[in-house]
Amino acid sequence: MAKIINVIKGTKDILPQDVGEWHRLEETALKVFSKYGYQEIRTPIFEATELFARGVGDTTDIVNKEMYTFEKSERSLTLRPENTAGVVRSFIENGMSRLSAPVKLWYKGPMFRYERPQAGRQRQFHQVGVEMFGIKQPAADAEVILLAINYLKALGLNDLEVELNSLGCPKCREEYKAKIKEVLKPEFNNLCEDCQTRYEKNPLRLLDCKVESCQAIFSKPEIKEVIFSDFLCEECAEHYSQLKEYLDKAKVKYTENKLLVRGLDYYNRTVFEIKSNDLGSQNAVCGGGRYDSLVKNLGGEDTPAIGFAMGMERLNALLPKVEPKLLDGYIVSNSPVEAFALAEELRAAGKNVEFDLANKKFTKQLEKASKVARYALILGEDEIKENAVSVKNLETSEQIKVSRENVSEMV
Ligand code: ATP
Ligand code: MG
Repeated sequence: MAKIINVIKGTKDILPQDVGEWHRLEETALKVFSKYGYQEIRTPIFEATELFARGVGDTTDIVNKEMYTFEKSERSLTLRPENTAGVVRSFIENGMSRLSAPVKLWYKGPMFRYERPQAGRQRQFHQVGVEMFGIKQPAADAEVILLAINYLKALGLNDLEVELNSLGCPKCREEYKAKIKEVLKPEFNNLCEDCQTRYEKNPLRLLDCKVESCQAIFSKPEIKEVIFSDFLCEECAEHYSQLKEYLDKAKVKYTENKLLVRGLDYYNRTVFEIKSNDLGSQNAVCGGGRYDSLVKNLGGEDTPAIGFAMGMERLNALLPKVEPKLLDGYIVSNSPVEAFALAEELRAAGKNVEFDLANKKFTKQLEKASKVARYALILGEDEIKENAVSVKNLETSEQIKVSRENVSEMV
């Protein structure tokens, strides 16, 4: 026998018995996001590598370690590790800044990151997310956070924790960064290797380091004091406090977390994460924030923006299984030509039906019907003569004979 070829490590098939869960996520997204005026956008799965280098940021783990990059005709291409950069590219390229603000877009689909596979962490995984362009006011931030919460609630997730922070603007953040660098200088050699790089390139990113020894350093009193100091300028502080007013008004419970800086370089002001309490270690299901400088950095007009992304595998892990749907009817007959014709009639009437393409024994067909359908549609010699069908309810075993044109109303 020929050698079997296996699925690639960190990737998974989504099998028919599981695909219902994915439909649930996607249908709920369409329903809830539409309520808020979002329209779906689908961008290519690969883009110019430079888009991610510039759009995600070359100090991030995603760009430095996790990208699937390849060359074709001397162009460097990359499988998208996230979708914000692609959506922003499309926003600019398609002149969407000319549309009246806000422009609200949502997406779903596979993303690719070369990470160590483990529970809740794959190399091909899926995200659903939204991006809103053109509004700088905190009402937009509040609406996006509410949208995320309402989507999760519509899925049946209620045990949620919202974490919130403001990263300020490039102006006030510079000062804060400088202070963090100063206070961490004596500890430089004790920081992990990644943090030593971040120290130079993007010191704010130190704060979300997951290495315990780094976290211990950050909790030293004199360092903690700087990390937790108020650095926001007046406008940023006002934006943040208004956002909290909106959230309070909507009775959203949130925790402020000064260590929440998010993995991507482009965020400013609002950043947030939503965690679910039943998911063990990989409990972050949603991450988002404001990225007012990204559109301009990627060559577009200065356009404020905010969005979030959710990990769909992690959502599915939190939700109950979806039972596969039964067929409306399974035709049981030893006249395959008649069965074939009846199946087509019923399909034309909008029903999900099958018949036995292999024309096996009558009893085998009945057995199959009871496994896959709600009704057995029996088409024996008598029925064919009478232009009728015996409809058997497979749950109650009740059976009645009806004329052929009435079958579709019965199932
Ligand atoms: P994490 O801290 O878990 O690595 P992240 O900050 O890299 O997350 P984002 O880039 O903000 O994550 O992506 C948003 C969401 O996508 C995450 O909250 C998570 O649910 C999901 N996600 C990210 N990376 C993976 C992955 N490798 N496998 C599965 N889901 C993922
Ligand atoms: Mg990550």
